[in-house]
Amino acid sequence: MKIAVFPGSFDPITIGHVDIVSRASPLFDRIVVAIGVNSQKQYLFPLEQRLEWLRQVFAGNPKVEVNYFEHLTAHFCRRIGAEYLIRGLRNASDFDYEKTISQLNQIVGGGLETIFLISQPAYSHISSTIVREIIKGGGDASPFLPAQIEIQPA
Ligand code: ADP
Repeated sequence: MKIAVFPGSFDPITIGHVDIVSRASPLFDRIVVAIGVNSQKQYLFPLEQRLEWLRQVFAGNPKVEVNYFEHLTAHFCRRIGAEYLIRGLRNASDFDYEKTISQLNQIVGGGLETIFLISQPAYSHISSTIVREIIKGGGDASPFLPAQIEIQPA
C-alpha cells in the first residue's frame, strides 16, 4: 500500500493544490491531504474551515483523506504509515526551499521520500499568499479557488 502525505497550510486551498493532488492520484493508493498546524503562525482562516474546504473539494476522490497534524511532518508520516511526501514546485524559490526540507525529511523520516510535481504553467503564479492578499484587499479570488469554495470579498 503506497501512502503519500500532501502537507500544507491550505490557507486557503487553491486550484494549484487541487491540480497537484489530481496528478499524484494515479501514483499512490492513498493520499492524505494534511494541514500542518504551527502554533507560532497566524492563519487567515481557522483550521476547522480549512479542513471543511478540503473535505468538500476531495469528496469525489476515494483515494484522498483529509487530516491535520502538529509538530513534525515526518513524525505524522510515520504515525500513519506514509512513506512518501508530495510537494508542488512552481519556481526556483520553491525548489531552493523544498530541496532542504526534503533532505532533512530523508534523515528525520528515516528514508521518507518527497515526490515533486512541477506546477502546470497555467497554475505556477497561484499561491495561497496571493489569494489571501486579494481577499484582504476586497477583491474576487474565485478564479484561483476550487468551485466548491465560496469566499465573500472582505
Ligand atoms: P506551505 O504552507 O507549506 O507553503 P501551501 O499550503 O502553500 O503550504 O502549499 C502546499 C504545497 O502545495 C507546497 O508544496 C506548494 O509548493 C504547493 N503548491 C501551492 N500552490 C501551488 C501551485 N499553484 N502549483 C503547484 N504547487 C503548488
